[in-house]
Amino acid sequence: MSNSFVLVINSGSSSLKFAVIDSVSGDAIVSGLGECFGLPEAVISWKHNGEKVEESIDQPDNHHQHAINRIVALMDSLGFTADLVAIGHRIVHGGEKFTSTVRITETVTAEIEKLADLAPLHNPAGAIGIRAAMAAFPSLPQFAVFDTAFHQTMPEKAFTGAISNELYTEYGIRRYGFHGTSHYFVSREAAKMLNKPVEESSFISVHLGNGASVCAISNGQSVDTSMGFTPLSGLMMGTRCGDLDPGIIEFLMKKGWSQEKVFDALNKKSGFLGVSGITSDARGVLEAMEEGHEGAKLAFEVFTYRVAKYIGSYMIPLDHLDAVIFTGGIGENSLPIRSEILRNLKLLGFVEDEKANADARFGASGIVAKSELLGAVAMVIPTNEEFVIAQQSVELL
Ligand code: ADP
Repeated sequence: MSNSFVLVINSGSSSLKFAVIDSVSGDAIVSGLGECFGLPEAVISWKHNGEKVEESIDQPDNHHQHAINRIVALMDSLGFTADLVAIGHRIVHGGEKFTSTVRITETVTAEIEKLADLAPLHNPAGAIGIRAAMAAFPSLPQFAVFDTAFHQTMPEKAFTGAISNELYTEYGIRRYGFHGTSHYFVSREAAKMLNKPVEESSFISVHLGNGASVCAISNGQSVDTSMGFTPLSGLMMGTRCGDLDPGIIEFLMKKGWSQEKVFDALNKKSGFLGVSGITSDARGVLEAMEEGHEGAKLAFEVFTYRVAKYIGSYMIPLDHLDAVIFTGGIGENSLPIRSEILRNLKLLGFVEDEKANADARFGASGIVAKSELLGAVAMVIPTNEEFVIAQQSVELL
């Protein structure tokens, strides 16, 4: 019997994750990552049968296209091309147009490109991934799984902005939320680990990667989330500012800044990069902090303080809390960042288990803190958006 594999492509702003998922067992047969796109040190690496291969991407630009070309050749050389039944793409913004997973057509791709103004760092990268994959695998059905879909259960009071209602009816301006596939996955895994039905579980899911968001999950459903109309709002991120006073935009434009310059600053030159003055990468910030870099220390403090403030405020939509869940590249791996966030949550009764926190890294899950006060835990769960994307693609087949 032939295999039934799904190639999952997660084409992000500075990275492209890919995986070949066995749609029956859920196992990742190959998993890979292109990273540092846009930088001279761009690389692509993959793991197969326990062996890791890494190649640099020597071309000066268009790293997304080069990565897809390399994946096509890899599928051929591993003999997987005939076993692929579908390709599933992670797409960041579905606007109001896409409320669930869809099969990709030219019209769908064009709609995703049209939504680029809502997610300027991500939707164009997603569409590049789709077009390259459509050209490379023209006979395979392809599906788009949207980061916004999980948050469609938010109540009106959570998704409505405190602005003129006409802006919603005219332009669809409201909170959409992102990272839905990740918040969905880790909440299901957390319920399993706590041995509780997800429909009766309440979580605050904290996804900390280059993009970062918090989600309040009540009875398994998203009821509020920190990203909004675009992925620019909420937490401080790698290069994005998160929440800020909109009056700053007017102020800068009165100082002669163009609209492009303002939004380039907020999307690409803020966050860890802006505050530290050195890098958007959390690892680099932590290393610089250890060497005594003042900007890096401030970036660490601003980031962790803001995450903790969101966790505190996301108690409000819940009737109880089972767990705070850390995930994403930073949430899964960074011990100092998790420790500092937990220290900031002392009033909520969280006490870190230092050994458990040190152990729950690099792919390991674990309970890393407890709050007697709330009857809750803090846990680390590596996210697996690829598995959700593969499952939903095969369901639609
Ligand atoms: P994306 O949002 O692009 O998917 P990831 O979830 O892969 O991003 O997260 C990338 C972030 O995770 C980077 O800031 C990186 O520095 C950080 N990260 C990865 N490993 C570690 C680590 N061991 N310690 C601290 N930060 C880490």
